[in-house]
Amino acid sequence: MNKQPVGDVAGKVILACPHGFCAGVERAVRIAECMLKGARGPVYCLREIVHNRQVVRDLSSRGIIFVKDINDVPEGAVVLFSAHGVAPEIRKTAGSHKLKIIDATCPFVNKVHSEVCRYASEGYTILLVGHRNHDEIIGVAGEAPDSVVVIEDKTGAENVDVKDPTKVAVMTQTTLSVDETRNIIDLLRKRFPQLKTPAGSDICYATQNRQLAVRSVAEKADIFIVLGAQNSSNSNRLVEVAGVAGCKAFLVSEIEQIHAVPLDQVRVVGLTAGASTPEYFVRDALACLAKLGFVHIEECRVVDENVHFAMPAGMNA
Ligand code: SF4
Repeated sequence: MNKQPVGDVAGKVILACPHGFCAGVERAVRIAECMLKGARGPVYCLREIVHNRQVVRDLSSRGIIFVKDINDVPEGAVVLFSAHGVAPEIRKTAGSHKLKIIDATCPFVNKVHSEVCRYASEGYTILLVGHRNHDEIIGVAGEAPDSVVVIEDKTGAENVDVKDPTKVAVMTQTTLSVDETRNIIDLLRKRFPQLKTPAGSDICYATQNRQLAVRSVAEKADIFIVLGAQNSSNSNRLVEVAGVAGCKAFLVSEIEQIHAVPLDQVRVVGLTAGASTPEYFVRDALACLAKLGFVHIEECRVVDENVHFAMPAGMNA
């Protein structure tokens, strides 16, 4: 395709849709806000409620106390578990410290926890595809540490050893690249023909839709900006997906970082936001890009989303 330099012509932004908050993040943030309204004492949150600086900063300024370790929550206090979920061991510690748990784990993540428990109880080795140090994988693997092996990439899939090759199941992190994960699962299926796979994909609808939208916009854009945090798995995957589609992408976690994106000679900017990025950050980015000459905004919607999760019992916001 013909990609012209800006010259005197005003630049354009193509906004990938859907982008931004998914149902799991929306629910987690609503739960936190509900806690702020209703709690009599301080509300603690174990690690980032979602991987996004703006969200964490905002909730922190309104009173949520973020801690990295469950042992940092005072005895008997209220603690919020993030959308990424936690390992059973954390729940046990919370119980022994008499903490009141409010659980914002995304229902899709909970589904993977349940699948791991079921296969482990049936004697399967579970190959868990994902990033070893990500909160979600730490939580899921913690359900059955003796039965789970984390596979981070194709090399891991090629080399993994299991005690019974006829009893192997595969599960995945919810926010991986659809294409890469398919390749890893295909490879595992070749090695273990009786491999059990989840009904449908563990990669959630929001991850899939945002990647689809990026792929579609990447064909028409000179450069891509992905709004999201450095530690946001789904945002990093969006950067990779744009790159694989031939469009260099930059991850932007604070507005001022847009000025470091090489926009000279660029006519069309693709823009998206990870599933934990709030819409006001997208608006701020559009305003910043308009000041830089990218005044036309076009939306490219590949699918409509209508997924919403119920709040925990007794909580309405
Ligand atoms: S990205 Fe998917 S799995 Fe993660 S919180 Fe959102 S809906 Fe849930």
